[in-house]
Amino acid sequence: MEQTQSYDFVIVGAGISGINVAYRLQESFPSKSYVILEARGVIGGTWDLFRYPGIRSDSELHTFGFPFRPWTHEVSIADGSTILDYIKETASIYGIDKHIKFHHKVTLANWSSQDGKWTLDVENKTGTEVQTKQFTAKFVVQATGYYNYAQGLETVIPGIKNFKGQVVHPQFWPEDLDYTNKHIVIIGSGATAVTLLPALSTKASRVTMLQRSPSYIMPVPKIGKLKKILRNFLPHLWVSFFLFLWSVFFSTLVVFCLSSFSPSNEKIVSETHSSATSC
Ligand SMILES: Cc1cc2nc3c(=O)[nH]c(=O)nc-3n(C[C@H](O)[C@H](O)[C@H](O)COP(=O)(O)OP(=O)(O)OC[C@H]3O[C@@H](n4cnc5c(N)ncnc54)[C@H](O)[C@@H]3O)c2cc1C
Repeated sequence: MEQTQSYDFVIVGAGISGINVAYRLQESFPSKSYVILEARGVIGGTWDLFRYPGIRSDSELHTFGFPFRPWTHEVSIADGSTILDYIKETASIYGIDKHIKFHHKVTLANWSSQDGKWTLDVENKTGTEVQTKQFTAKFVVQATGYYNYAQGLETVIPGIKNFKGQVVHPQFWPEDLDYTNKHIVIIGSGATAVTLLPALSTKASRVTMLQRSPSYIMPVPKIGKLKKILRNFLPHLWVSFFLFLWSVFFSTLVVFCLSSFSPSNEKIVSETHSSATSC
């Protein structure tokens, strides 16, 4: 085993959260040392792993993006590769990428009260070779996301093994999957299903969505009217900031409060919202 490497902070994961934490640490504690340990070979986590047709954000990047580097692209609901570029560029602009150790998977964390520090066991895979390393730190930040990177969440569907067609999980979409003129059934009606359906229907012969419980769908144009107007007389950063406030206070709070207060009016609120905002 290599000599133990010591830092003030260890961040586990180089997705959007890990990059954000690194920026905050650099800003607040410039004299402290940190390292980002990333199990995969790339930055971006979610936005590199998921490659299914039509992949995009669910929320507006004015709220999902970094406050210290506001989103200035024309579209607010962005596709996966644009988000990935934004995360990579941010890491590079602020020198965060130099602190990342790729192919370093944290497998164990032990806290010692006596020494006042964490000791992390890390698997460093290069090709077929696996090396075990140890890192110590006073603070560990887990920016590891919320799902299993190695295995998509499976649901039990009795009889699915007898199905003669191909079964695909969106977490591992085959790069060469040709669905031209095919009949496709999407099981589920959450955000992934709503993203997939319009994208698949451009080439498939028929796409059917199977849903257990209905959800509300709110149509939102790619570039909102408000954004178009503001862009005529305000700088990009101001537009981003204004849309951030608009999104938080109107889209989220007002719609949530009205829907809770009077669920039957939710449809009316959503319709008004979609024509009035959608930034
Ligand atoms: C299609 C899709 C659309 C989404 N849209 C939105 C949206 O619009 N708004 C929103 O708020 N959320 C959205 N989400 C949720 C999204 O995943 C999170 O908001 C966000 O990207 C998570 O970032 P993260 O950095 O916390 O985690 P992740 O992106 O999951 O990154 C975690 C990183 O940690 C690494 N890691 C994990 N375990 C270890 C370990 N033991 N050792 C070392 N490294 C490790 C992983 O390899 C990965 O790189 C979406 C998710 C999907 C799949």
